[in-house]
Amino acid sequence: MNHRIRRSAELALFAAALLCGRIVGQEKTPDWSTVQIKVTKVSGNIYMLEGQGGNIAASVGEDGIVIVDDEFAPLAEKIQAALKNLGITDKPVRFVINTHYHGDHSGGNAPFANSGSTVIAQDNVRKRLTTGGTAGNGGSMKMENKPAEKAALPIITFEHDVTVHLNGEDIRALHFPSGHTDGDAIIFFPKNNVVHMGDDFVRYGFPFIDVASGGSVQGMIDGVEKAAAQLPADVKVVPGHGVLSNLDDVRDYVKMLKETTAVVQKALDAHKSLDQMKQEKILAPWAKWSNDFVSQDIFIETIYNSLTHHPGPFVKHN
Ligand SMILES: [Zn+2]
Repeated sequence: MNHRIRRSAELALFAAALLCGRIVGQEKTPDWSTVQIKVTKVSGNIYMLEGQGGNIAASVGEDGIVIVDDEFAPLAEKIQAALKNLGITDKPVRFVINTHYHGDHSGGNAPFANSGSTVIAQDNVRKRLTTGGTAGNGGSMKMENKPAEKAALPIITFEHDVTVHLNGEDIRALHFPSGHTDGDAIIFFPKNNVVHMGDDFVRYGFPFIDVASGGSVQGMIDGVEKAAAQLPADVKVVPGHGVLSNLDDVRDYVKMLKETTAVVQKALDAHKSLDQMKQEKILAPWAKWSNDFVSQDIFIETIYNSLTHHPGPFVKHN
């Protein structure tokens, strides 16, 4: 790889990781050769795969393989090998469903498509991958995304929901508008009692909400609550990032989102400025949720922008 290409690959990678998760070892390009794909059996024929980037859920069975999200392009072969090593099927990954457009969840689209998988995503995922544009919290957190290559674009898109009937299961992707982005889908595996929540639900603390890509804290709360209301009490929850979770974890997270949003709304009602809110450390009671990616100040700003911003160009409410 020549120096210029390598440099731009590093920058793209760092930005993607900055947006959606934390890089192991801090601010370094991961050495892809050392990334290992950890596979955990979740329930029945559903597995969770963790490498670098967002979590993957996989339905592996007699009809072949469906995966939800695909991390980064350089990991595609390792992901395929890890799925094959389960020894359940020699059939390929037939479908990839993206939970949203961010590069640490959709970065593997092109290699998967090139090896025969069909990529499925919500309409706005294809739009944002096509155009590129600015991602961020609508304030100090900002990052430019270049348009994706053609092979990375989802071939099948949906506005509200789509169902993939494979391995004896009706795998359902349902769009929740204006949450982490404007193109999020939550994926249900009803027979196996598993759900993949994408980055609408993460375990690293205060979440990154991509207000610049049509996300909002209100939409995130609404989407996660609506999804949770449809789920059995003992459902296994694959978060966008972090450990396998349950509904109590989801409820704790929603409670934090609601409480922190109410505090910022109250400060807005009292005509406080963003700087005042930061100086007064109004989210101090929720300090344990602070992390080196989304600090208290960044999260105040995120909620502030969610509550005061105009929606982006692709926002759809249904
Ligand atoms: Zn994301």
